[in-house]
Amino acid sequence: MDDLRAGLGTLCAHAGREHLRVQGAHVPLIDLATTYPVLDPDAAERAYDDLAAGAPGAEEGVYARLHNPTVAGYESAVARLEGADDAVAFSSGMAALTAVLLAVRRTHSHVVGIRPLYGGTDHVLSQGLLGLDVSWVAQSEVADAITPETGLVICETPQNPTLGQVDIAAVAAAARDVPLLVDNTLATPILQQPLRHGAALVLHSATKALGGHGDVLAGIVAARADRARWVRQIRVLTGAVLHPMAAYLLHRSLQTLELRVIKAQQNAETIVGMLLEDERIERLYYPGLGNDPRPELLGAQLAGGGALVSFAPRGGAAVARRLMQSLRLITPAVSLGGVDTLIQQPAALTHRCVDEAAREEHGVDASLLRLSVGVECATDLLADLDRGLDAALEYAGRTALTAA
Ligand SMILES: *Cc1c(COP(=O)(O)O)cnc(C)c1O
Repeated sequence: MDDLRAGLGTLCAHAGREHLRVQGAHVPLIDLATTYPVLDPDAAERAYDDLAAGAPGAEEGVYARLHNPTVAGYESAVARLEGADDAVAFSSGMAALTAVLLAVRRTHSHVVGIRPLYGGTDHVLSQGLLGLDVSWVAQSEVADAITPETGLVICETPQNPTLGQVDIAAVAAAARDVPLLVDNTLATPILQQPLRHGAALVLHSATKALGGHGDVLAGIVAARADRARWVRQIRVLTGAVLHPMAAYLLHRSLQTLELRVIKAQQNAETIVGMLLEDERIERLYYPGLGNDPRPELLGAQLAGGGALVSFAPRGGAAVARRLMQSLRLITPAVSLGGVDTLIQQPAALTHRCVDEAAREEHGVDASLLRLSVGVECATDLLADLDRGLDAALEYAGRTALTAA
């Protein structure tokens, strides 16, 4: 594992930069062109055909919706980190997901989903917007849910927001020749590489840990070469491309990905240690803990628990809300995977659009809070949480007294 970590750190710093030396450059060049001069009409025709068919590059650039070299450099870096042949970047995580679903829709009409998933993914599937039927199943029920019409199985591990794990190899085997898409946003390729366990496609909201600084919205799908072409064709057609400035920032962020993920995880583990002992906490969720249906996967599939911690304080939703408002260092905000710590209430925001019965079934009630731990000093985070919990409980005690 330590060797793998060392390798990943080197990849973070160097992947997608292999061609820079011959360019006489040290950092990726930002190419803002929307069009390119046609130097050789025959070559341009060939390039157009190749790029429209989803090729990662061609003899000529032609047009920025078809290809951009700054974006292509970032794609090749993420592909290497995920152990994929290729990756396709989009203007957001939801644009990436939608492209995969449109690609599926060309030939199939049914998707199997394992809940819980990111609220937006759940919503787009449940809406039937793209004409796809969805069957929601538990990870043990995938094989029975597959029909000849099934074009995709989709899951997320650790699951958002309750952080239980899904056994990727078991689900991939149950899906047989139906491709499995794993949303790897929470784990990042530093902690988990789903393709190595049998997934066909890996999806990231690069808005989260890959970007890591809260200033870029992006998505990316990594896969074998043929599947990446299948997805890139849709991007050429629908145009949800990543801007080259955003690609530059993301490629830069990748250089510190391992450092950030490991530091945030250390902080998260320290916070979990404190909350486990804390009688002000009613429920605590972290990979490998009691609520995880597959704790044995920690260390095997997932190298470490990561930066997210979910918990419900004693006293219910009112205390949870008050806690969020009482914090001074930790920001109440959605999103995750950034250098600064955020807290939010999934039932009210990120998972608001999920069917209420499904939310309750997975413990996503109004008292649940999801903490995305950053890279601050752990002692400062602990102090903020401790003081916030005291303030929230004191407030709840006072309102109970007033009511009595
Ligand atoms: C944020 C998120 C998405 C959606 O990504 P956007 O970049 O917001 O479109 C998908 N999956 C997970 C796990 C996420 O956290």
